[in-house]
Amino acid sequence: IQWEKQVRSSSQIRRSGGMSVLVTGAAGFVGSHVSLALKKRGDGVVGLDNFNNYYDPSLKKARKGLLNSHGVFIVEGDLNDARLLAKLFDVVAFTHVMHLAAQAGVRYAMENPGSYVHSNIAGLVTLLEACKSANPQPSVVWASSSSVYGLNDKVPFSESDRTDQPASLYAATKKAGEEITHTYNHIYGLSITGLRFFTVYGPWGRPDMAYFSFTRNILQGKPITVYRGKDRVDLARDFTYIDDIVKGCLSSLDTSGKSTGSSGKKRGMAPYRIFNLGNTSPVTVPTLVSILESHLKMKAKKKIIDMPGNGDVPFTHANISHARTELGYKPTTDLQTGLKKFVKWYLSYYGYNHGKSVN
Ligand code: NAD
Repeated sequence: IQWEKQVRSSSQIRRSGGMSVLVTGAAGFVGSHVSLALKKRGDGVVGLDNFNNYYDPSLKKARKGLLNSHGVFIVEGDLNDARLLAKLFDVVAFTHVMHLAAQAGVRYAMENPGSYVHSNIAGLVTLLEACKSANPQPSVVWASSSSVYGLNDKVPFSESDRTDQPASLYAATKKAGEEITHTYNHIYGLSITGLRFFTVYGPWGRPDMAYFSFTRNILQGKPITVYRGKDRVDLARDFTYIDDIVKGCLSSLDTSGKSTGSSGKKRGMAPYRIFNLGNTSPVTVPTLVSILESHLKMKAKKKIIDMPGNGDVPFTHANISHARTELGYKPTTDLQTGLKKFVKWYLSYYGYNHGKSVN
């Protein structure tokens, strides 16, 4: 069938010894960048995405168009569709799964808690079941989040720090994902690498994130809401540029080691790893705003309010020494430079008069 043909040709490995990777969430921000980078270096890539409407689906369609033009095919489907996953693993012997599909965002959980359970818990388990049953079993690299550190106030955050104080349902589902993947590692011998991303930003980014919505509102002359933490302390984030995250994802795939399977193999032989992928230089939100103002050559109308207790944490800051040692991870883009690239992309994509279609 047409569908199978496209999946097969998309997964063809051009480079000898290259990988064949199923990228979930391929029409998303990080997924589209990772898919493109894998394809560019010669690996086989098949995407999976349900194109949900959490944010502007036309942006996801545009990313899909970009990927298609580079020979990456995206299958439209849900993580919870076990039959579809079985079929995909039947058609292609994936060596790796890069699992980036999830319900992201901390505040949306107040309105729609079920979507976090659907994608981040049930969807994850359905995917791991498919990986477990696949022959060969792929190595799994997946996106956890810096949010697992929650209200931990010891900075910078190291992988061995406590993660028992999630501040949102989103964080709780990512923490649960770490426990679930660990279980599949030791029971079924799946190779697992969990990546705790720290506030990723850049071109083709997510419209629900602050740097993106601030840019839109500044250009449209609308006010922006800047949250302030306890005792009037500014919120700070360890903003990490997308290209640095992509490099971290690729070296995680390259070093992920083989799944061993549960039968006839010693338990615990397959690797289970967790890495922080951050920038290790946090910036306050007011500084983020002033960098955007300078790139846009426009002033923001700031509304400063106390942070509501709805899921945000006051600060994030990654210790990246583990990723540096094991993955050779070394972020190179500072916020000033990265935002310049984001603003350039934003203006070329939406233009100065981009109307109201973005949400
Ligand atoms: P994104 O929302 O742009 O991408 C996720 C993609 O997954 C979307 O295209 C969505 O349509 C798809 N998806 C969601 N549920 C699905 C399902 N049930 N079945 C199939 N497809 C589904 O988000 P992103 O910023 O690219 O994030 C990628 C991953 O990184 C997510 O797991 C997210 O939780 C994690 N993460 C992101 C950040 C960040 O700052 N962007 C930080 C920490 C962790």
